Amino acid sequence: MATTLESTVALVTGASSGIGEATARALAAQGAKVGLAARRRERLDALAAQIAAAGGEALVVECDVTVEAQARDAVERTVARFGRLDTLVNNAGVMLLGPIVGADVDEWQRMLDLNVRALMLLTDAALPHLFRAAEEPPRHVADVVNVSSVAGRVARSGAGVYNASKFAVGAFSESLRQEVTKRHVRVSLVEPGMVATELASHNRPEVIAQLRAGLTITEPLQADDIADAIAYIVTRPRHMTINELLVRPTEQER
Ligand code: NDP
Repeated sequence: MATTLESTVALVTGASSGIGEATARALAAQGAKVGLAARRRERLDALAAQIAAAGGEALVVECDVTVEAQARDAVERTVARFGRLDTLVNNAGVMLLGPIVGADVDEWQRMLDLNVRALMLLTDAALPHLFRAAEEPPRHVADVVNVSSVAGRVARSGAGVYNASKFAVGAFSESLRQEVTKRHVRVSLVEPGMVATELASHNRPEVIAQLRAGLTITEPLQADDIADAIAYIVTRPRHMTINELLVRPTEQER
């Protein structure tokens, strides 16, 4: 049974930067055809061109996955173009930090809409295709990889709703895993510690200043480190699932 991704199709959300971009490249390097979902079209076009130059194939799926129709359409466009879906990487996410007391609740809505609701809708749209792929060659198995965080395991003051969104991803993933694992759809949770990406830059300036002031990690993870972990997960043999992978930079204590 094949353990590379030749003749398979993946959809990666949040593929325009950071972990998603690196993951799309890594899965393409393993032979997958890849749907690239995010809002910034030029970034996706550039990545698709890089993947093509390296001998792979990618489809640009410009979309806002917090809009239900666009989330569903991202799945359907990928399947329409490549004929199947074997791997869904639910990576798109936003981390807006700050205390719960006196919070800007619009930020809560943005996090819950993207980190939780969009991930659930994409999963719902993908499952019929994943069930089909799991019954077919070349792998007879399919994958959902949900990108959570250390913040999905340990709650901290000042990160309450980000924590809540990632705890929700953990609960959803484990419940789904129990439902679908007998059908050979594997559900995996990836929990990175600090990764050098654009993630923190979406915060308010005062939060960014606080984060910079409190920084003690000199060597954060790189997006490729997490892409590597995801590629490892989805290239295991059919009988083996990596249910959960917690990956911290060596210097990160909590
Ligand atoms: P980035 O900010 O670099 O990437 C976030 C991605 O999500 C971008 O591609 C962005 O693309 C996409 N995105 C945001 N909003 C939407 C939307 N409405 N519709 C479609 N795509 C959207 O951050 P990371 O790569 O770090 O984050 C990826 C995941 O990793 C997140 O789930 C994050 O919580 C998680 N994580 C990150 C850690 C870190 O330290 N960096 C640590 C632990 C977990 P665009 O703006 O073009 O739409």
